[in-house]
Amino acid sequence: MDIFETLESEVRCYCRSWDTVFERAAGSTLYGEDGREYLDFFSGAGALNYGHNNPVLLRPLVDYLLSGAIVHSLDMKTPAKRRFLESFQEFILKPRHLDYKVMFPGPTGTNSVEAALKLARKVTGRQHILSFTNAFHGMTLGSLSVTGNSMKRQGAGVPLTNASSMPYDGFFDGQTPDFLWLRHALEDSGSGLDKPAAVIVETVQGEGGLRAARASWLQGLAELCHQHDILLIVDDVQAGCGRTGTFFSFEEAAITPDIVCLSKSISGFGLPMALTLFKPELDIWKPGEHNGTFRGHNPAFVTGAAALEHYWQDGRFESHVAGLITQLHDGLSQIAAGIDGAAVRGRGLLAGVYYPHPGTAEKIAAESFARGLLVETSGPQGEVIKAMPALTMSHENLRKGLDILAGAAEAVTG
Ligand code: PMP
Repeated sequence: MDIFETLESEVRCYCRSWDTVFERAAGSTLYGEDGREYLDFFSGAGALNYGHNNPVLLRPLVDYLLSGAIVHSLDMKTPAKRRFLESFQEFILKPRHLDYKVMFPGPTGTNSVEAALKLARKVTGRQHILSFTNAFHGMTLGSLSVTGNSMKRQGAGVPLTNASSMPYDGFFDGQTPDFLWLRHALEDSGSGLDKPAAVIVETVQGEGGLRAARASWLQGLAELCHQHDILLIVDDVQAGCGRTGTFFSFEEAAITPDIVCLSKSISGFGLPMALTLFKPELDIWKPGEHNGTFRGHNPAFVTGAAALEHYWQDGRFESHVAGLITQLHDGLSQIAAGIDGAAVRGRGLLAGVYYPHPGTAEKIAAESFARGLLVETSGPQGEVIKAMPALTMSHENLRKGLDILAGAAEAVTG
């Protein structure tokens, strides 16, 4: 028994799946204390879209730390924060004609969701929030109330109120979305539901099974919210920052959410940071109404700005990512082929293979780890193997990872 077993709580989970002490990492490779190398198809749960220790971000970070500049600063003004905001405006908001105010709600994605829910309630004066089955929005009480996973919800220990869940059915092919459930909630006085403040949605359900909503469904949802004066919150914590091929995952649908949650890869380096974006007319916060100690983190501003400046100035990076997306989806289709009921799920570099037989995906993840690949599962029963490589990965490494995954899948299902 080592210190991880004796001192850490049972609540840890990645420790269990990958029982190695990871010592170093570079790009898409991790190195264990045991001398083994692991290819990374997990990217820090989506926090490492630019890979581990990317020199493009590492160099400015080291220079910054050695320069005696400010590290912690509450939410005071610093040059690092100025540069991050300028880059975000110049390379992300402006080219997409988006007009959002930016708030730093705290270090994690959950913090971003909490701020979004609170703001939606404050702006509309309504309490009810609509979310979707199998959604994942975080582990604190507010974000948990809009999370679909019943095991995680039970962990709250108190009733989770003022939120209800609707079927996430936007992935069905070839159907004209009718939004019967939403219309019922909004238009039927017998539904028993109070008029909601907001609908919160993931365009791809990162934890809930990699269901990806179609663009037409997202457009219909946005239209209905608009008609009924309900705010649309897109939780882009996992699907954002380029993971689906565009910076925001909702760009494909050409919708403009009222509120957007970002975190995970916004610092680009794995440093904790979150943003909540909202339309300027929603900025009715009073100073101090939603504050805290760690909001906006100067080292994360430095790496975040470096990532935006290096990767998002023009379309070159998006072309590289588009090539990886094609390669990943081709590889996953081959892995799914010939297995009864197996199917590719997801969008962009947030994709995987669904297996109808319980336990299959988990066994494949374990076998992949034994063969030197970090890959996770997704879905309420862990029924989907989830490939989330870095956006900076080389085609060669993606090929290697897919080969390991295919070998592991063959060993488990063959
Ligand atoms: N929203 C989504 C869509 C997520 O995937 C996650 C994390 N998996 C969160 C919110 C919560 O983020 P964090 O774990 O950083 O609090």
